[in-house]
Amino acid sequence: MNQDYIKADPWSIIEEGFDADQVKSSESLFSIGNGAMGQRANFEEQYSGPTFQGSYIAGVYYPDKTRVGWWKNGYPEYFAKVLNAPNWIGINVLVNGEAVDLNKCKSITEFRRELNMKEGWYRRSFVAILSNSIKIQVVSTRFLSLHIDELGVIKYDVTPLDQNVTVGFDPYLDSGITNEDTNWEDKFWETIDVKSDGNQSFITTRTLKTNFYVCTYMHTSLFLDDEKLSVAPVGERSATIASQGYEAQVNQNQTISLLKYGGYTVSTNHDKYELITAARNTIKEAVSLGYQVLLQKQKEAWAHIWEMADITIDGDVKAQQGIRFNIFQLNQTYLGTDARLNIGPKGFTGEKYGGSTYWDTEAYCIPFYMSTKDQQVARTLLEYRYNHLEKAIENAEKLGFKNGAALYPMVTMNGEECHNEWEITFEEIHRNGAIAFAIFNYHRYTGDYSYVPEKGLEVLIGIARFWHQRANFSTSKNQYVILGVTGPNEYENNVNNNWYTNYLAKWCIDYAVENLKIIEADYHDDFERIMSKTDLDWSEVELWQEVANNMYFPYSKEHDVYLQQDGFLDKELITVVDLDKSQRPINQKWSWDRILRSPYIKQADTLQGFYFFEDHFTKEELKRHFDFYEPFTVHESSLSPCVHSIQAAVLGKMDQAYAFYLRTSRLDLDDYNKEVEEGLHITSMAGTWMSIVEGFGGMRIKNDMLSFEPRIPEEWEGYSFKINFRNKIIKVSVTQNDINFELEGDQVLTILLNGEKHTISPQTLLSQD
Ligand code: BGC
Repeated sequence: MNQDYIKADPWSIIEEGFDADQVKSSESLFSIGNGAMGQRANFEEQYSGPTFQGSYIAGVYYPDKTRVGWWKNGYPEYFAKVLNAPNWIGINVLVNGEAVDLNKCKSITEFRRELNMKEGWYRRSFVAILSNSIKIQVVSTRFLSLHIDELGVIKYDVTPLDQNVTVGFDPYLDSGITNEDTNWEDKFWETIDVKSDGNQSFITTRTLKTNFYVCTYMHTSLFLDDEKLSVAPVGERSATIASQGYEAQVNQNQTISLLKYGGYTVSTNHDKYELITAARNTIKEAVSLGYQVLLQKQKEAWAHIWEMADITIDGDVKAQQGIRFNIFQLNQTYLGTDARLNIGPKGFTGEKYGGSTYWDTEAYCIPFYMSTKDQQVARTLLEYRYNHLEKAIENAEKLGFKNGAALYPMVTMNGEECHNEWEITFEEIHRNGAIAFAIFNYHRYTGDYSYVPEKGLEVLIGIARFWHQRANFSTSKNQYVILGVTGPNEYENNVNNNWYTNYLAKWCIDYAVENLKIIEADYHDDFERIMSKTDLDWSEVELWQEVANNMYFPYSKEHDVYLQQDGFLDKELITVVDLDKSQRPINQKWSWDRILRSPYIKQADTLQGFYFFEDHFTKEELKRHFDFYEPFTVHESSLSPCVHSIQAAVLGKMDQAYAFYLRTSRLDLDDYNKEVEEGLHITSMAGTWMSIVEGFGGMRIKNDMLSFEPRIPEEWEGYSFKINFRNKIIKVSVTQNDINFELEGDQVLTILLNGEKHTISPQTLLSQD
């Protein structure tokens, strides 16, 4: 298979033994975050080997001027860049004047990293013989606090093992950082002020163009065998660095520890002139609680998250570790507490996919957040798009659409499109459909209709108007067609009548009309307000319906399947099993033109439509389409295997479902796509959750009821998950023989199990057929 250096463990990600070639991959895998900030697992001490430095602040970005070989009208001016933020974790360490640098040591033994997902901390330890032959042990523990989200904590311990030594610690802040990903090698940050005050330092910076003001701060203290030393550091400053120098005599086997509090205060949350004051307040709170209490609070906060979000898998440690890693990373990335934020495909683990919000949020992430958190969190995600509606209308206007048609961006930070590959920016318009689908999905799951009259309908109107204008009538087909698109399968560009896009377009119009009628009948005031605000009347709606009712869908009578797009059958239909392994992944091995001419499918496309609209088709239809498309699918997008896993489970193809599950859940841990060093695939992690809950658990909403059709891979003894369904917490446990439902509280709930109604009370045991 793939890399196998991560030890199997149910609750931790563990690496043992130092391998310089794995440093960048491990920097991704051991990343930490708390929703407000996050960072790759870079070493605190100096490291002269290859490394990818990354610290990130939620919502802080830079609009990097677009760079393309051939400018096309309609391109956005910029591609948003997730910014590598000033470094607050750095600590230079000197032993008898020799710098600790794992790239220069004589030997490194007992190297170990542990990311403890249960408690939310990361620890690295090793024994090294430095170039001056002194043997030391280092243990460094760090976490980004959930209790105080502007605070990070590092405890860095050094123990000389073979002699008495002088240890120097030089903790620092550094705003002279760069991004790996820049279009013009622009400077992204301007340093305004570097300040030190005893054991506290502050660097105030500003992002160029976007004017985010950030104060990066630290507070340090020294301990010998856990006793606090009252020493004052020697402060030093340069244009972009603030450091504090400590020196201490340490006897053999004594442990000297540097405790460093640090992090960011940001102008998005504070007055820009009060950032240092805000940092001082954070420091004060951290100091008054102290390391042990902060760590305890971290454990409690994670215990609270796991209480609701955990999925257990018995009898398969790798599968268990995989799902917990996914759930952990999703919670490190987005907690749903700030309506301005969203879920970037790489979270806080890398720079790729610079902009933060993709269709991934609506298509993949909402079900996870909807089921494992308060339903307000999913509503907040929907509101994010409502708040960007004006920009989506402007975006469509720039491309020539009118009358309030809305085209949501493929990639965005603030509602503006910031992606500039023509085939994606202009053509991957299916993203609009996912945004409408999320509104439907939210209502279907939560039962909360209030969002639609309050906000959702306006979004649906903008989207329906877009599809109406984007389709055109084909006289030769005597139907409406949608030309020049890219479907979810980005290995086809500028195709005509991508089935998924056409199907979504029709559905979006139908769904908008259905809701207009409901709101006209039941929410009179909202109806009047929305019709007037959007300047809509029923005669316009009839024009939309004309398109929806006469939409063309490419179909093959020979195969009895919908075709991914016009002309798909003209391809040389050689399946993936007949493709030499040395040719994979094709996106790294083949020229783009060869990819485009091939039948290979990057990610679920027609099958994505069958996933969204499963109820519209019979199982036989699903089977025919799965059997037709799966053999051509190379799954070179992380978003792909989860959909195929769910569908394989529905079709009773449990071996395939299990294989896809492992692939999605361990995509990063096992580095299937050979790119984990660039960062983790955060949004597809929500797909992993879906492959257990919707795939194996068979959870759906049917007739307004929660419905399950549980299946279990033969490799597992059992699994369990919890969901919040309409403010009722239900735990579902499945073994090879039984299905157990536990309902929290003292209410009852009627559910469907394999199509039959059951009323479940706090504890209901049913046997597995
Ligand atoms: C996928 C897109 C996805 C993006 C970000 C691409 O590789 O093809 O569907 O939105 O990654 O996850």
